[in-house]
Amino acid sequence: MMDIRRTVSVHMLECCRSAAVSLPSIVMNQYEASISRAVVDAIQTFAEAARPSECCGLLSGSNGIITDLHPLRNLAEQPEIGYFAAPEDLFQAMVRIRESGHKLIGIYHSHPKTMAYPSSKDVAMAFYPDAYYFIISLEPAADLRAFRIEDARIEAVTINLIDAAQ
Ligand SMILES: [Zn+2]
Repeated sequence: MMDIRRTVSVHMLECCRSAAVSLPSIVMNQYEASISRAVVDAIQTFAEAARPSECCGLLSGSNGIITDLHPLRNLAEQPEIGYFAAPEDLFQAMVRIRESGHKLIGIYHSHPKTMAYPSSKDVAMAFYPDAYYFIISLEPAADLRAFRIEDARIEAVTINLIDAAQ
């Protein structure tokens, strides 16, 4: 057993050395998402109102700063443990974002009872590699975190709070 394990780890090391480019990133906080404090407050308000279900929606803005929130109805069969945005809501929100000259920057949803980290389903359903995925956990305390999810790889994103005055 021990020998096999040693062989495997040596082999992996060699693989890593010879293919450094394909190594998963271990650099934390490579990404930073700027979001207005008012939007963060709104995410929490919607998350608490949706309890025990998860809430979900889009986040838009310009110059890379999230200033607007677009709540979407959650039509998941089990909305307590997942989200599926109503397609017509999604369409209308995308039109609204485009018409206001904004860009889609992020997607948010809540985890009423679990921690603010993407579930395996969240990863499987992450179709926007350029978006910041915001997850707010409500228990034991409100906790908002952001991630990038690309090819099933999850990277933590630093949240940069912007006050409305700016
Ligand atoms: Zn989730």
